[in-house]
Amino acid sequence: MPHQTTSPAVEVDWGQSNEKVEEMQANGEIPKDSKRKRVVVVGLGMVGIAFIEKLLKYDVKRREYDVIVIGEEPHLAYNRVGLTSFFQHRHVENLYLNPKEWYESMPEGCLEYHLNTLVTDIDYINKLVKTAQGGIVHYDILVLATGSEALLPRHTPGHTANGVFVYRTIVDLQNLIAFAATKNGTTGVVVGGGLLGLEAAKAMMDLNEFKKVKLIERNRWVLSRQLDGDAGGMVVEQVRNLGLDVLLSKRVERINTDTENNVTGVTFEDEESMECSCICFAVSCGATIQYVATDMV
Ligand SMILES: Cc1cc2nc3c(=O)[nH]c(=O)nc-3n(C[C@H](O)[C@H](O)[C@H](O)COP(=O)(O)OP(=O)(O)OC[C@H]3O[C@@H](n4cnc5c(N)ncnc54)[C@H](O)[C@@H]3O)c2cc1C
Repeated sequence: MPHQTTSPAVEVDWGQSNEKVEEMQANGEIPKDSKRKRVVVVGLGMVGIAFIEKLLKYDVKRREYDVIVIGEEPHLAYNRVGLTSFFQHRHVENLYLNPKEWYESMPEGCLEYHLNTLVTDIDYINKLVKTAQGGIVHYDILVLATGSEALLPRHTPGHTANGVFVYRTIVDLQNLIAFAATKNGTTGVVVGGGLLGLEAAKAMMDLNEFKKVKLIERNRWVLSRQLDGDAGGMVVEQVRNLGLDVLLSKRVERINTDTENNVTGVTFEDEESMECSCICFAVSCGATIQYVATDMV
């Protein structure tokens, strides 16, 4: 498994703390070759990095822990809540919760991070995690911060077609932006009229690639988990005034495709059909725990 960088991490100015640690080491207050516990954190998301920052902050004097964080995504921990701003600035670094230099400024051995690395198995008995690349990492303490993943409606025929997206990661957005650029003048669709769906629809409109963006919602108004019918109806009116085409009480029965598995449209449960080239599902997300129950032997 490639070693990306090493360092400990704290919220305070590390420059000062680093000197402090060195001073303490010189005074013998911190044993240099201590048998520190290794904390392996799976998931370099918002929760994973918040945990690491806190742990290393409180551990700065005693130096009891070394942290290895393993993340599936190709990016350092970023602000997922602010993901939609990526459509404007297109700079991944703008979303980073800590710049790369922060990770690299840490004293050796405290914090090691691995990107593009999926943890696939946990061996609780021998205290090991295994990665998709075949790496095996020992832990004393294991922290799972694997968050959630956007769900596709796998029961819907056509959900694997080219042009079907979800809205969860920087890579999802990069793929959507690149795809939209090849579908200029066509119709883009968002399925799901919740907060995320509305956010995705606005972002797709702002891309200025699609001739029309349509939002499909199975309920009678959008934001149905947050608002009653009156308030939800007002939001529908507002977003329609912004140019978003909102289709209510509509359930997608299947995604229509051509012979090369490209999206060509959707058919609803009432058998009505609609043309489109791109569908972004913002319907649900579920905990990313698929490997947790697996014991590696
Ligand atoms: C567009 C958008 C807007 C949002 N807006 C808001 C908002 O306004 N307010 C709000 O409260 N919440 C919002 N959320 C939700 C919020 O982003 C999440 O609640 C938050 O990101 C959860 O953090 P997390 O670290 O638990 O999980 P995640 O952010 O999902 O991070 C988990 C990380 O673990 C990695 N991972 C998972 N499994 C493995 C594995 N086996 N091996 C290695 N790595 C793994 C994942 O790739 C991911 O990088 C929004 C989400 C989106 C997508």
